[in-house]
Amino acid sequence: AAAGPELRVVMVPSPGHGHLIPFVELAKRLLHRHSFSVTIMVPDNGTGMKPQRELLQSLPPTISPLFLPPVSLSDVPADANVITRVTLTMIRSLPSIRASLKTLLTPSAAAAGGGRVVAVVVDFLSAHALHVAAELGVPPYVFYTCGAFHLTLGLKAPELEATCPGELSDLPEPLKLPGCVPLSGRDLPEPFLDKKNDAYKWMVEVHKEISTNAVGIMVNGFVDLESGIFKALAEERGRTGTGPLIYPIGPVPRLESDDPAEMGTDSLECLNWLDKQPEDSVLFISFGSGGKLSKAQQDEIAFGLEMSGKRFIWVVKPPGDYMVEKSIESSSNDPSSYLPDGFLERTKGVGLVIPGWAPQVRILGHGSTGGFMSHCGWNSSLESIVNGVPIIAWPNHAEQRMNAAFLAGDAKIALRMDTSEKDGIVGREDIAGFVKAVLDGEEGKLLRSNVKELKVAAANAIGSDGSSTKSLDEVAKLWMKQS
Ligand code: UDP
Repeated sequence: AAAGPELRVVMVPSPGHGHLIPFVELAKRLLHRHSFSVTIMVPDNGTGMKPQRELLQSLPPTISPLFLPPVSLSDVPADANVITRVTLTMIRSLPSIRASLKTLLTPSAAAAGGGRVVAVVVDFLSAHALHVAAELGVPPYVFYTCGAFHLTLGLKAPELEATCPGELSDLPEPLKLPGCVPLSGRDLPEPFLDKKNDAYKWMVEVHKEISTNAVGIMVNGFVDLESGIFKALAEERGRTGTGPLIYPIGPVPRLESDDPAEMGTDSLECLNWLDKQPEDSVLFISFGSGGKLSKAQQDEIAFGLEMSGKRFIWVVKPPGDYMVEKSIESSSNDPSSYLPDGFLERTKGVGLVIPGWAPQVRILGHGSTGGFMSHCGWNSSLESIVNGVPIIAWPNHAEQRMNAAFLAGDAKIALRMDTSEKDGIVGREDIAGFVKAVLDGEEGKLLRSNVKELKVAAANAIGSDGSSTKSLDEVAKLWMKQS
């Protein structure tokens, strides 16, 4: 069923490319399948947001960005956790979110072409905007950009807060959340590791906001991927009869990229290069939009790749400590200046090094790509699944260790790197071993076969009759009833 051009959904993602990307994809689905027009309110955290602006400018006119005025975080300590910065940005944007929403709700705004607003969809880090929507009489929904495992932990956080007075990481046993693999203290998402840090307080608070104020939560996952968890969430909702309804509507990763940041000549060169490599022979290495390694660790990866003798595409960034040491501008990224001497020459033809940003979706979708060394951000994890590529899990920050525990321990599509090695640095021999195991070994074969099964399940879920499509249809129908 189509909404017709007269109905509009307002989205409020939190700042950051990693959260904006799935929101944009959801907007496209709502437009193409249900003909909703979409307004994306874009919070401004004062970083200029060039990649976000470029991405938003490339969209059809029925998906329109509405840039919110910048907010000041000058009183927030420079070393504050990113969760704290993001939540405060959202809370301080609430007056402009309220004002913009009020304007969009006026009959003249609807008549001017955008359509009548039937729902507000927020990110979990913008959960404070839920009550603004409710206050103005618009049904408040969440699009949860992490998986159902993270959602379960988030929803349980207030209860854990009441029942576990000490640090969660000190619990003698791994946490057993309903339907989830046991979660050891070391795999808890960063904000849950230190209750004294404001980030923890914000994580608990946003999830309280969600439990109290959201009508429904759309999750970027699909039933066959996290079946036990979705079942447990539904049972819990059935038992209590209260709280938001849960809708698995994913995967919502980019199926093909139209991100302008990825259309440059470097991108074309790497895709041409992939065309010439054998099937499943190339390892893709990327640690996400933010991930930075130390110089020592990056060197070990370089030597490990060389030792493995395998083909690779590696997205590199100047190591954090190296930049500080040499006082290098964050905009300069010349790999020959920070990779080991001679590495680029010695690996010529066998590997490609891409500075900064690579067309990840296209690389993972290429038949020559046979493995993905990843930081296990949720978008990257889903993109790997959608393309049937087994993972070498190398989690770093945020909820990545939890994702890695799931991908290796439950989904069984990843080999997990032991990052608790001496000095926190994984050595070149281990790296070479993992690369060979995933591209060639028996273990790699098993992972590949598991992830290929999930690839089919993911395609089915978002196919015209699939479980996630039906779930999104259900939500869309409720929104249309608002008419
Ligand atoms: N990405 C990309 N090219 C890069 C690095 C990242 O296209 O060189 C995209 C990637 O495909 C994914 C997103 O950026 O869609 C990263 O999101 P994820 O949740 O994996 O990690 P985050 O960057 O938020 O840590």
